[in-house]
Amino acid sequence: MKERFRYNNYMCLSRKVFVHAKSLFEIDVDFFVQHNVKTLFVDLDNTLDSYRLYVPTERTKEYIAKVIEAGITPIIISNNKGKRVTSYAKNLGLECMYSARKPFARKIKRLIAQKSINVDETMMVGDQLVTDAGMANKANIRMVLTDKIVKEDQWTTHFNRLIDRPMRKHYAKKGKLIDWRTLYGKS
Ligand SMILES: [Mg+2]
Repeated sequence: MKERFRYNNYMCLSRKVFVHAKSLFEIDVDFFVQHNVKTLFVDLDNTLDSYRLYVPTERTKEYIAKVIEAGITPIIISNNKGKRVTSYAKNLGLECMYSARKPFARKIKRLIAQKSINVDETMMVGDQLVTDAGMANKANIRMVLTDKIVKEDQWTTHFNRLIDRPMRKHYAKKGKLIDWRTLYGKS
């Protein structure tokens, strides 16, 4: 309980400390198990794959299979449009929410209520401070912030990056991006 509380503090945007991973794929699935994650909310573009890809890569398929095998339900939470998100999610056999309107938390809160998900058993993984971490913070969902996996962004993301990049640099310099491994006790 104490550990969880500490971990939760790391998540808070107000404290400006973030759990960080270079990418989703470097996170040991057991990390989520250890932190009692039953539902894993995952951003799509630049977290799972490039926004140009309509079909998931083998790496993504393999990783998601491991997550499911561990008894965790991944759900894709994306601000992108229906067609792109649903076809991609269908390929992975996952549920998804498109036009999620991150950083607003109204839609995710509704999803959590509809599915009777325990918010203490969730975690969000995403590559953007403004949208992904912003939503997670508002909905009280624990968060792992990743770097973007490919250089290219959709044009709609460029504005967010203008804020994201200097903020991230600032936090990194102050040692406020904490590597996920530091919260990964027993291996
Ligand atoms: Mg993204």
